[in-house]
Amino acid sequence: MEDKKQIYVCSVCGYETVGPLPDDYICPVCGVDVTHFVLKEEKQ
Ligand SMILES: [Zn+2]
Repeated sequence: MEDKKQIYVCSVCGYETVGPLPDDYICPVCGVDVTHFVLKEEKQ
């Protein structure tokens, strides 16, 4: 098991959240759907 966070970044507004994201996730800042989020791996 790897012990790293999955950070997802909204490609529209830059909002970051920890995944995994549900399929119906909506960006709380700009309102786009989950397809606009890109995975950013971040080691602790
Ligand atoms: Zn956004």
